[in-house]
Amino acid sequence: MAPRSKAPERLQRYKAKRDFAKTPEPAGGQAPEETGNRFVVQRHRARALHYDFRLEAGGVLLSWAVPKGPTLDSNAKRLAVHVEDHPLEYFDFEGVIPGGQYGGGDVIVWDWGTWTITDGTDPIEATEKGDLHFDLDGERLHGHFALVRRGARGGKEQWLLLHKKDEHAVDGWDAEDYPSSVKTGRTNDEVKAAPAASWSGSDNWAAPNSEESAALEGLGKKGSWGFRGRELQLTNLDKVLFPADSSGPRSPSEI
Ligand code: MN
Repeated sequence: MAPRSKAPERLQRYKAKRDFAKTPEPAGGQAPEETGNRFVVQRHRARALHYDFRLEAGGVLLSWAVPKGPTLDSNAKRLAVHVEDHPLEYFDFEGVIPGGQYGGGDVIVWDWGTWTITDGTDPIEATEKGDLHFDLDGERLHGHFALVRRGARGGKEQWLLLHKKDEHAVDGWDAEDYPSSVKTGRTNDEVKAAPAASWSGSDNWAAPNSEESAALEGLGKKGSWGFRGRELQLTNLDKVLFPADSSGPRSPSEI
């Protein structure tokens, strides 16, 4: 494991690219935890559609932009452009990055879960070597994957994301066949249409008060809910809206 003190240093590129007065993305101020092994894939409609593939390691989210998205098809090789590490708070960011800002566009949480390195023990070291083998246990992605560096173009490292042939392999599997968020059930269009309803506003976060919480619990699978003076239309309420750590909302990405 990389020492804890490395995480702030690793986030310098992330911070330099963004104006946190204008973007709802997280600034990354939380003390990083070194032991987490979450992964997230975000569908990001920026200048070009891509999927941001992020693996938690060493107190940051190692990140790649995958234009065609990950796949369970073991015959496919997906281009994955290595991009700057992201803060852990980015893990469940869903929202809209304003036009004119870095990565301007809408973002949904397309998949999430946990990952385990299978070849070696140190993900940071494996990433530096350009050869990372791992298992994913997500809602959509399962099984054995690899990320392998192939070279660089225009100053950007080009990698390939592969799904190994295993019991989860499905020929022709296409991420675009699964358009909704695993966090909120919303599509990119729905997030774009109502960014204020995403849990990613740049105003200070507050947990719902007891009255608001009771109203939320009283809803079925969908309904409208008053929160901080706003009327929110909620769907797919079997999803977790407020993570147990209640560390607040987070936000989107690059390219
Ligand atoms: Mn992105």
